[in-house]
Amino acid sequence: MSQKIVLATGNQGKVNELSKMLSAFNLNVVAQSEFAIGEVAETGTTFVENAIIKARHAARISGLPAIADDSGLAVDALGGAPGVYSARFAGDNATDKDNINKLLVDLKDVPEGQRQARFLCVLVYLRHADDPTPLICQGEWHGAITAKIIGTNGFGYDPVFWLREQNCSSAQLSPEQKNQLSHRGKALALLVKAMESQIA
Ligand code: IMP
Repeated sequence: MSQKIVLATGNQGKVNELSKMLSAFNLNVVAQSEFAIGEVAETGTTFVENAIIKARHAARISGLPAIADDSGLAVDALGGAPGVYSARFAGDNATDKDNINKLLVDLKDVPEGQRQARFLCVLVYLRHADDPTPLICQGEWHGAITAKIIGTNGFGYDPVFWLREQNCSSAQLSPEQKNQLSHRGKALALLVKAMESQIA
């Protein structure tokens, strides 16, 4: 029987993407909601710190190994913001719509050729809550911020993330297409490879 692993995120968009991608591997992944594990304060200043905080919290409560994701958007014209603050860019209880509106307002005077941005994702695997050698993998996805919302798929900043090669926003990709191209998809491919040698 395959090892049970808890997925340490309460973000439904991430649960959908990660569980879909992980279902291709022989891993028995359970969402943290099944253990009534609540959110933990993301007090780190890096994606790595925050991913470890989330994985450790879920592993501690569930008694299982845990995978956590910390991710965000880095916009060149904003000096890399919102970065680790992507989920709360417009305030502590901001919705995706609030965050997108703030981003579009902040970039309103930035011309088309200067709106480059990257999605970043760090994935962490902890064998147990006190694992001193977590597996850590990261992925990047390059694009540009649009002037308005385009597309309805995905979550977060997907409707304003323009992909030049695909000539569409990431919210116009199917879930399968997004998983193949995205920062999360890239980080997960690396993590699964690293885990394969660790899990019987
Ligand atoms: P956190 O990792 O829970 O701190 O939140 C990351 C935030 O970054 C999300 O709430 C989204 O706003 C944004 N984000 C991360 N990955 C994606 C993505 O794949 N698409 C759109 N937005 C994303």
